[in-house]
Amino acid sequence: MTAQLSAPIGIFGGTFDPIHYGHLRTAFEILQALDLRELRFMPAGDPPHRDTPWLDAKRRLELVRATVAEHPGFVVDDREVRRRGPSYTVLTLEELRAELPDTPLCLVLGMDAYRGLATWHRWHELLVLAHLVVAPRPGWDPPMTGVVSELLADRRVEDPAVLRTVRAGKIFVQHVTQLDISSTEMRDLLAAGRDPRYLVPDTVRALLCATQSSSSATPKR
Ligand code: ATP
Repeated sequence: MTAQLSAPIGIFGGTFDPIHYGHLRTAFEILQALDLRELRFMPAGDPPHRDTPWLDAKRRLELVRATVAEHPGFVVDDREVRRRGPSYTVLTLEELRAELPDTPLCLVLGMDAYRGLATWHRWHELLVLAHLVVAPRPGWDPPMTGVVSELLADRRVEDPAVLRTVRAGKIFVQHVTQLDISSTEMRDLLAAGRDPRYLVPDTVRALLCATQSSSSATPKR
């Protein structure tokens, strides 16, 4: 029943420790290619499955806000920073589904994140709540074996228009410009006293350099 559904929105979760052009270009290309109503950046407050982030949640959120504020179609959603406990994506999607009952939800993931999907909390329920839009990422091939490989084979659609016809349950692989940039690399650069210019937006660079000079914290890998 296509006519009853609103245009889809994208949800781009991550630690964003810190946000960089690999995130931003990927998000921009997906927003455009899928003609999403909006793309929500959703920084994790307490990301499961990883060490304590280098920057605290408030700071990571501030950097995301500084970056996406002026961009039409980009929105910052801070619910995972405000919510207590581990930032499980399934809880976020349940909230969004209740708020937006007639909107297809597109959860955006890099290929590295997709490959680890079966370790996520209540991962079987993710596709009940949302579609997955997977972005290839340098160094990460699509899974060839295991449950996430089978899931991809089972749920993948080749036509992105299908994402507008049902609220959830499909996987679409959207090619994006391949940028071999990671937050780990940003932290390593800063730890070595080097300049992240042209890898992050200038606003983020300025805030990061201020953080670096006023803090004795050592970035973690
Ligand atoms: P870290 O190096 O700390 O693991 P990261 O660079 O992978 O961080 P995250 O905030 O963990 O960044 O990633 C959030 C989401 O963005 C994930 O789905 C990840 O796959 C995706 N992503 C990050 N960088 C890129 C990139 N360069 N190209 C495509 N997707 C990316």
